[in-house]
Amino acid sequence: MTKYYKSSIHSFYPDIQKTSITKIMSEDLIRKEIETNKNEYIEFLRRLIQTESYNPPGNEKNVAIVIEDYLKNQNINFEVFPFEENRANVLIYLKSKFNDKNLLYNAHMDVVPPGNEEDWKYPPLSAYLKRKKLIFGRGSSDMKAALAAMVISLKILKKLNLKLSGNLIVNAVADEETGGKLGTKWCLENVLKTKNIKSNFIIVGEPSGLAPLPKAIIIGEKGHLLLKIITHGKSAHSMVPDMGINAIYMMSKIIENLSSLDNFIPNIEPPFSLIELKNLVSSAFPSNEIFEKIFDEQPLLQNFLASLTKFTKSLNVINGGIKGNIIPDHCEAIMDFRLLPGQSSKIILEGLKKLITHIGFKVKELSEDIDIDSFVSIEVYEEGAASVWKDYENSDEIKEFKKIVEDIYGKKSFFALAPGSTDSHYYRNSGYCLKTIHFGPGKAADMHAINESIEIEDFLNSILVYTLFAYQFLK
Ligand SMILES: [Zn+2]
Repeated sequence: MTKYYKSSIHSFYPDIQKTSITKIMSEDLIRKEIETNKNEYIEFLRRLIQTESYNPPGNEKNVAIVIEDYLKNQNINFEVFPFEENRANVLIYLKSKFNDKNLLYNAHMDVVPPGNEEDWKYPPLSAYLKRKKLIFGRGSSDMKAALAAMVISLKILKKLNLKLSGNLIVNAVADEETGGKLGTKWCLENVLKTKNIKSNFIIVGEPSGLAPLPKAIIIGEKGHLLLKIITHGKSAHSMVPDMGINAIYMMSKIIENLSSLDNFIPNIEPPFSLIELKNLVSSAFPSNEIFEKIFDEQPLLQNFLASLTKFTKSLNVINGGIKGNIIPDHCEAIMDFRLLPGQSSKIILEGLKKLITHIGFKVKELSEDIDIDSFVSIEVYEEGAASVWKDYENSDEIKEFKKIVEDIYGKKSFFALAPGSTDSHYYRNSGYCLKTIHFGPGKAADMHAINESIEIEDFLNSILVYTLFAYQFLK
C-alpha cells in the first residue's frame, strides 16, 4: 500500500519536496483509517452516551472504564485519578515523555441530568441511532462526541505510528457541569503542573456549532456569577405592621435600584466591539452585503452579538412570605450576572454590597455575630470566570487549525466569543496556556436540551479535524 502512494504521488507531483510527500501520504492514511473504521467509532460514541454520568452526582468513573476498555492493548498511556465514590479524572497520552511540544485536548465526561425522561422522544441513555444520520441522548453533543473524537484521534496517531516529535495529551475530566474545580482545575494543579507537563496549545471540545452560522472557533468567553440575595427582616402579625420589618419590601427596594449597579463597579471595555464581532462573523459569509442582510433579519443574531459586548444582569427567581397575615422576615432572589473578560466575580460582589449599603441596608455575613433587626446577606452559588485569548491573530497554529476546519467541513469558519464559560478559563486565566480555543462537534443550541442529538457527519468530521491538526502540530 505505502509503496503505491509513494510512486503515484511522485509521478503526479514530481516537484513536491520529500516532506510534503510524507505529509500528503500521512494525511491520506489518516483519512483512509477514519473511513475504514467509522462504524467502530460510532459504536464507541454510542457506548459513551449509554454510560450514565449525570452530574450531580457525576459517576464519571463509569465513563473512564469504557474509555480504558476501548484503548486496551494499544500501548497507550492511561492514568486514572479516582475520587469520591464513583468519580474520576483521566489523563491519556501518546508517548511516555513530555520533552518536546505538547498539544492538550480537554473533554468532560460528566453530563447534565436529563430532567423528565418522559419528555424525551428516545430515552436519554438509549443513544438511539436515527437513519444513520443522528444519535440521540444526553451528552451526545455536550460533550461525549468530542470526548470520543479526541480519544479516537490519539488512538489513530498511535496505530499509524506516524513520526511525531511532540506529544498528544487527552485530559478527560469530571465535574465540568458543576464548575470544574474537581475536574480541569484539579488536573491542572495536581497532574499537569506537578508532573511539569507544559502545553503549547489547548483545545476544549465544547460544541461550537452556532447554527445557522457555520462552525465557529471560540477564542474567549463571558463568565457568569449566580448569586442569592437574602433580605432578613422582622416577623410580626400584619394587623400591627409597624411592629415588623417586611423582607419583601426590602427586596423590592434593592430591585428598584439594581439598574444603578453599574455606578458601583469599574467600567470595562469589551474585548471586541460590536463592529469587530460583526466583522469576525461576516468573514464566514460570501460577502459583507449578504451578511448584513441576514443580520438585519435575525434578532437572535443581533442580540447574541450585542450580549458579547456588555456586562448583563437578570433577576430570575424570587421567593418570600409564608402566610397572608404574617409580615415576612425572609425574602430571597437569585440573580444571574454575565461578566466580560477582565471582570471578576469579586468586583461584582463588592459593587453589589456597596449598592445595598448605599440604599440604606446593612450587608452582613450570616456567620457574623452582630445583633441587628434587619440586614441583607449574599451567597455565591455558582461562578465561572470570563477569559479571552485576545492576541489570537498572531498565532500560526490557529490559522492552521482554521484551514483544517474549513477544508474538512467544506465551509468557511470564523472566530467568535462564547456567551457562557467553559473549562477554558482555567487554562487561560492561570497563565498555564493562553492559547486555548474551544471547538467541538455539536450545536450550542442542543446543549442541556431535551432530545439532545449529534449529527454523525459532524462527529466524524471532528475526528478528522482533531487528528489532522494533532499530526500537523506535532510532526
Ligand atoms: Zn460541556
